[in-house]
Amino acid sequence: MIDPSTRERLQQNWSAVENDVSEAATQSGRTPDEVRIVGVSKYVGVELTQGLIDAGCHDLGESRPQQLWQKAEALAEHEKVRWHLIGHLQRNKVRRILRCQPLIHSIDSDRLLNALAMESVEQGQTARVFLEINISGEEAKTGLSAQQATELIQQIPTSGVQVEGLMAMAGWGTDRSEARRQFSQLRELRDKLASDSGLPLPELSMGMSGDFHEAIAEGATIVRIGSRLFEGVERY
Ligand SMILES: *Cc1c(COP(=O)(O)O)cnc(C)c1O
Repeated sequence: MIDPSTRERLQQNWSAVENDVSEAATQSGRTPDEVRIVGVSKYVGVELTQGLIDAGCHDLGESRPQQLWQKAEALAEHEKVRWHLIGHLQRNKVRRILRCQPLIHSIDSDRLLNALAMESVEQGQTARVFLEINISGEEAKTGLSAQQATELIQQIPTSGVQVEGLMAMAGWGTDRSEARRQFSQLRELRDKLASDSGLPLPELSMGMSGDFHEAIAEGATIVRIGSRLFEGVERY
């Protein structure tokens, strides 16, 4: 059981993040319902994840496929919860992850996209996915280069997957104006890929605890917030 003060703190944090995201949208001349918040639960176990759901967060993000399916199974009674995979997916985990019907933000190769498409068809579903782009140009970062994404968008499998947009992280230690520049590049790349491919690509998954204001100003439709939700909470 979560103790009452932790429960209350999670609720306060969630409300504060909701408010800040709404405000950032309004300040950018957008409406709050244009920006969805994915609560990144990768820092905590099942109990605190449950606390976050109880606080009102129904989109949950995990970096590791295994943690995602373990939590999805443990919390299966919450029908309203949608899972988001935001970290690298190995092809040998595709079958099991697809059973949780997550939104997959982290497509970083054509081989992964093709494997997902095949397995989705087998399971009789269509996987909703985003291409992950390395906008910071850091070698250590995962994600496709703009060039690779431009090639990949021409070879989307015709069934089993629906590519809905792009995901990216700003580089480590970038200041806010540099982060904003990188988010703007992601939006421009999305516009280019959409016109190249004729796919609408409505979604831009960008912005985390430290830079979601900038991301929203540049058109984020999904922000992925972790640390802010667990401030003042002992993580377990
Ligand atoms: C951990 C993580 C986040 C959340 O980052 P915070 O700074 O804790 O809000 C967002 N996106 C991805 C891809 C992550 O791995």
